[in-house]
Amino acid sequence: MNSKNHVLIVGSVAFDTVETPSGKVERALGGAAVYSAVAASFFSPVRMVGVVGDDFPQEHLDFLASRKIDTRGIQVVKGGKTFHWAGSYKGDMNQANTLATELNVFESFSPKLPGDYASSEFVFLANIDPDLQLHVLDQVKSPKLTACDTMNLWISIKRDALVEVLKRVDIVFINDAEARQLTGEINLTRAAARIHEIGPKYVVLKKGEHGAILYCNESTCFAAAPYPLDAVVDPTGAGDSFAGGFMGYIASAGELNDASIRRAVVYGSTMASYNVQDFSLNRFKKLTIKEIDGRYEEFKRIVFFEAIEED
Ligand code: AMP
Repeated sequence: MNSKNHVLIVGSVAFDTVETPSGKVERALGGAAVYSAVAASFFSPVRMVGVVGDDFPQEHLDFLASRKIDTRGIQVVKGGKTFHWAGSYKGDMNQANTLATELNVFESFSPKLPGDYASSEFVFLANIDPDLQLHVLDQVKSPKLTACDTMNLWISIKRDALVEVLKRVDIVFINDAEARQLTGEINLTRAAARIHEIGPKYVVLKKGEHGAILYCNESTCFAAAPYPLDAVVDPTGAGDSFAGGFMGYIASAGELNDASIRRAVVYGSTMASYNVQDFSLNRFKKLTIKEIDGRYEEFKRIVFFEAIEED
C-alpha cells in the first residue's frame, strides 16, 4: 500500500512481562504505541511519540526503524527506567489481570512533538494517561481524523481528563468492559449511545474473540466477525493492533467514508488476529503484506451471507 498521509501515534512504549496458558515472556517489547505503530506501518508512514529509559535496547529502536517508523518523537531519558507492565491471562483470554504497572519515565513525561509532527493528518492517541493524550492533541495543527483508546485504570483514576479527550476525538476504540465501566450501562448499544453523547462520532467496540462493532451516532454501522483462530498464544496488544491497523488503513485510503471505515474495521481485525498468534511483537516481525491481504479476503468470505452463485 502507498500513502503519504502520516499517522501520529502517542502511547506507552513498554517492557511487558506476560503469562498465558501458552507460556511466559519477561520484559519483552510491548506498549500500546508500539503495537499500534507497527500494525499501522504496514499501511502508512508512522510517527511515534513516547518515552523510554536508557535501559531500552537499541535493537527495539532498530526494529521500529526497520518498519520505517519515525522514532524522533521517542525521548530517551538518561538514567531513567522504561515503563513496565506485567499481566496474566487465565481462562478468559479477553481479560488481562494486571499484576504490576510501573510508570517509571512516564511519570514525569511531557510530550513535545518534533516540528513536522504537528502537521500529521491522522492522529491516534493510544493507551496512556489521558493528560498526556490531551497534551499531544494541543500540539497538532489541523488533523483530518483523531482517535483514542484507553483502559480501565484511566477510567477509574483520570475520568475527567479522559472525558476531555473524548470530547475532542472523532473515534474511540473501547472494549466492552471499559464501555460498561465508563457509562454505567450494561447494554452495549446504550453504552455506545452514552459515549456518542460525550463526543466521538464513531465508537468502535472491541469484543475480543467475538469481533468488533462499529457504532455511528446511535445506529450500528457495521459488525465485523471474529477470525476463527484455534489457538490464541498471547492476547496482549490485540486492541492496539486493531486500532493501528484501522488508522493505518484509513490514512492510506486518505479519507473516512462508509466504504473505507468498513474496510478499516476488517484490516484492524486482521492485524489483531495475527498479533495474538505469538508473544510480544514476534508475529508482526515476520508478517507480510501478502499474508495480511490473504486473511482480509478470508474475512470477506466469512461475513458474506447472500447466496453465492456457483460457476
Ligand atoms: P491491549 O492488550 O491492547 O489492551 O494493550 C496491552 C498493552 O498495554 C501492553 O503492551 C502494555 O504495555 C500496555 N499497558 C498496560 N497498562 C498500561 C497503562 N496503564 N498505560 C499505558 N499502557 C499500558
